[in-house]
Parts: sequence; C-alpha cells; structure tokens
Amino acid sequence: MTGPREALRSYVQFLHEHEDVRHVRLSRTAKEGLARLTAKSKPQPVAPPPTVAAPRTSPPVATTIARSSMATAPAVVPAAPLEITGSTKAEQLRHLAERAAACVKCPHLVARRHTVVFGVGNPEAKLMFVGEAPGEEEDLQGEPFVGRAGQLLTKMIVAMGLTREQVYIGNIVKCRPDMPLGTSGNRKPTKQEMETCVPYLRAQIEVIKPLVLVALGATAIEGLLGPIGSIGSLRGKFHEFRGVPLMPTFHPSYLLRNQSNTEKRKVWEDLLKVMERLEMPVSEKQRGFFLAK
Ligand code: SF4
Repeated sequence: MTGPREALRSYVQFLHEHEDVRHVRLSRTAKEGLARLTAKSKPQPVAPPPTVAAPRTSPPVATTIARSSMATAPAVVPAAPLEITGSTKAEQLRHLAERAAACVKCPHLVARRHTVVFGVGNPEAKLMFVGEAPGEEEDLQGEPFVGRAGQLLTKMIVAMGLTREQVYIGNIVKCRPDMPLGTSGNRKPTKQEMETCVPYLRAQIEVIKPLVLVALGATAIEGLLGPIGSIGSLRGKFHEFRGVPLMPTFHPSYLLRNQSNTEKRKVWEDLLKVMERLEMPVSEKQRGFFLAK
C-alpha cells in the first residue's frame, strides 16, 4: 500500500513535470501533519474475517465498492454550451459571471477557492487574451493575470499601444487548481477541469466576438483546440477557434524564467502579427523591440 510520504512524493514529481510549477514547499504544520499520518499508516493487525457469511444473491457491499474504485478515470464528456441571456454584451457577461460565481461543478476546487476569477476587460474588445487558470494571487484578488506573469502581460499590452482596459483577459478554468495542503505554487488544470469549465470561456468569446484571440501557453491552446502540438511548433502562426483567428504564444511566466532577448523577441513577433491583423499602427521603434543592436 502507498503511504502518505510516497503519495506526496509522486504528486510533487507530477507537479514538477509541469512547467508552471516551480516551487513546492511544505510548511512546518504540513510536515508535522505528514509525520502524524505516516505514523498512523504503519501496518495494523489484520482483523479476523466476519463469521456471518454475506448473502449469495448480491455481491457484498465492500466488493462492489472495490470494483467501482478500480475503474479507470471517467471519460471526459464535453460540457454543453451555456445559455447566453441579456441584451448588451456587458449584461451578458455579467449574467455569465454570476453563474460562474455560483458554480460548484468542481467540488475539490470549490472547497479551496477564495474567488471565481471570471475575466476582466472591455466587453467590446477586439483583442482577447486567454490563459490557463488563476494562480494564488489571482484567486485572492479575483482578477486574472495580476501576479508577476500578469504584470509582464500588462507590459506586453502596453508595448502594443493598448491598455488592459481596452482588451479582455480570461482563462480556460475559472477557479484556482488546488494544491496539496501546506504547499505553495500553482499547478496546471487537469483535462477534466478544463473540459468542465471551458463552456464559460466559449460563452465569453461568443459574447465578446473578438477579432483576434491570443492563447498564452500550451495549456490555453489545449483548452481551446485540444492537444494539437507543442507551443513551440504552434506559435508564430494563426490558427482558428470557431472562426476567430487565434495566435498561440508563450505564457508570460515562460518569459520570466527565460529572460533572453531571443525568447522575448519570439513573443513580440507573435504580437506584431496580431497588431497587423488588427490593422493597428506599428512604429519602427516597435518593430525593433528585442532585436540585437
Ligand atoms: S472551475 Fe469552472 S466549472 Fe469548475 S467550479 Fe469553478 S467555475 Fe465551475
């Protein structure tokens, strides 16, 4: 049987395999709790079998539970589209946000979330950015992209000649993916979580009708288009989501970890293509950002 230490070790290893989890740190309380659990999980004497035989007509309850728990993870069923109500885009988004705020479809996320991070920005935006899920800071503030990666995204938007108020920013998943108690950091949402929540994002896109979507990172692309390839191979070219041109690019957190001008330039070239697609003016200065002097 797997003990709490082994279970935690495999979970941490799983988290490390995802690029967005950089630090997993146990608090003192968590370490103490883990020590207590480990002591409790030491093998206990096996109780003698019950003397009363189970009825033969139906399997014992314990057997039924064991069989069902052995079943593989449930297949992910695409969620139905959400009904859009309201007469203006702002009202339609507000109604969707109210539904999301009361949403309990992912009980494990509901149990730990502080807020539902629906989205922010201009309902009439021509440009919409899509990320993967709220992190710790976003969960506390109720707004997407407000942590370090979010501040970098804001700088990118400003470098394009826009403000956060002119664009719209949303995520595939609206509640923060939970972390083991006592650990810090963020994790990538699971396929199940993305499939369950993505109808909110699809409805947001349907309401806003942006002229261009920018998907930030591999998870955002996967949530919108499925597992069609690596972000390195997909970025730099327009794809399409329900008739809307979609530019994949690296997540700002990738640039925080890889601060070379070469990587920054790749993202900037993706955004230049977005600006051209939106017929925005592009100055010579903007064209030269992050090029070697
Ligand atoms: S992640 Fe999305 S689907 Fe899941 S509870 Fe939150 S709002 Fe609902």
